[in-house]
Amino acid sequence: MRVCIHRGTHEIGGTCIEIEAQKKRIVLDIGLPLESEFSDIPLPPVPGFKEVDSSLLGVFISHPHLDHYGLAPKLLQETPVLIGSAALRILKAGSQFIPGGADFNNTIEINNRTPIMLGPFTLTPYLVDHSAYDAYGLLVEADGQRLYYSGDFRGHGRKGKLLDSFVSHPPKDIDVLLMEGSTFGRSGIDDKYPSESDLENKFLEMFRGIKGMSLIWCSGQNIDRLVTVYRACRHSGRQFIADMYTACVLQSIENQRLPQPGWKGFRVYLPWFQKQTIIRKELFDLARSFAPWRIYPEQIKEEANKSVMLFRPSMKTDLEKADCLEDATLIYSMWSGYLERDQYRPLRDWLDEKSIPLVHCHTSGHAPISDLKRLANALAPKMLVPIHSFEPAQFPDHFENVVLKDDGHWWELTAVCHG
Ligand SMILES: [Zn+2]
Repeated sequence: MRVCIHRGTHEIGGTCIEIEAQKKRIVLDIGLPLESEFSDIPLPPVPGFKEVDSSLLGVFISHPHLDHYGLAPKLLQETPVLIGSAALRILKAGSQFIPGGADFNNTIEINNRTPIMLGPFTLTPYLVDHSAYDAYGLLVEADGQRLYYSGDFRGHGRKGKLLDSFVSHPPKDIDVLLMEGSTFGRSGIDDKYPSESDLENKFLEMFRGIKGMSLIWCSGQNIDRLVTVYRACRHSGRQFIADMYTACVLQSIENQRLPQPGWKGFRVYLPWFQKQTIIRKELFDLARSFAPWRIYPEQIKEEANKSVMLFRPSMKTDLEKADCLEDATLIYSMWSGYLERDQYRPLRDWLDEKSIPLVHCHTSGHAPISDLKRLANALAPKMLVPIHSFEPAQFPDHFENVVLKDDGHWWELTAVCHG
């Protein structure tokens, strides 16, 4: 096997790895670089991306986060895309409302621990705990060699047990481990991250203390977090108001154990911004399907102190018009780095102007260093290559057999491992 990491050796985001065996190739992830979500980023120079090339057998998408699939809409329609079925439905549901969503024509469904034979490759996906739903690591076998790609993962979310079972029975004889290191540079060596159940208690305490509306700003695709917030709502006696986009995403997963329209205290609000999308795309049947659970602007003020409402910056005017912001608090439940970006200055000013306190309540979607070590120790690879990290140079301080790579360079598994 030969490997080329086109992007991701020195950054979080933009992940794209090409692997070749017997003149056939697969690609792992095709992400957007983190800082450039809305600018025009070219596809990596992979044969088969821009013109048909039968030696490209498929593109594996580890999970539905933009930094792992964001360039996929630029692929040729016939490109086979390997993706989890729930992940695919989430992307389809999301693409109705947000630009950059993906809808693939030619997909190969992946399932936990079920190998797929693709030319010379045997690909075995491993379901992982992450802030994206239906996320996978991948074992790639070809030419008698074994590479494991961690994808993005953690062990403190609602599927944390997946990491425990993986490290207790890991795939054996791994030649190369490509492991994410998002956490390096973002937190300390001994940091432990709160679990989603820890957060649930924190949210509950906050909902009990906030006099007016509790606004929550979190990703509509962080399903673990939505479950956490919904559960805290139920315990606090507040209703949960989701925007229609988030309600669609939750429904699309088709998992009856996840909160969704029809569940007790689950209301659906249609913000102006999403209403324009409904009108433009004539999604009237979709909007009508939420009718039994809708909450309208004129009801929100009255029910503000009994509600928790999902928030996004585009909803400022909706909330002002609904006159529901007296004694409101905004709980920010994403990575704090996003909030510091210039694009959110108007939001921060707006919060000041309206005297709305901003409090943070979040846990990472990525593993702390201690859990990265659990994975690396369990797999005991002959070579560990850092990926999806701004601080790859820190890896040798914590792991054995680390080899740093650069973007765009091809390397052989055998030559480096045994040479
Ligand atoms: Zn991710």
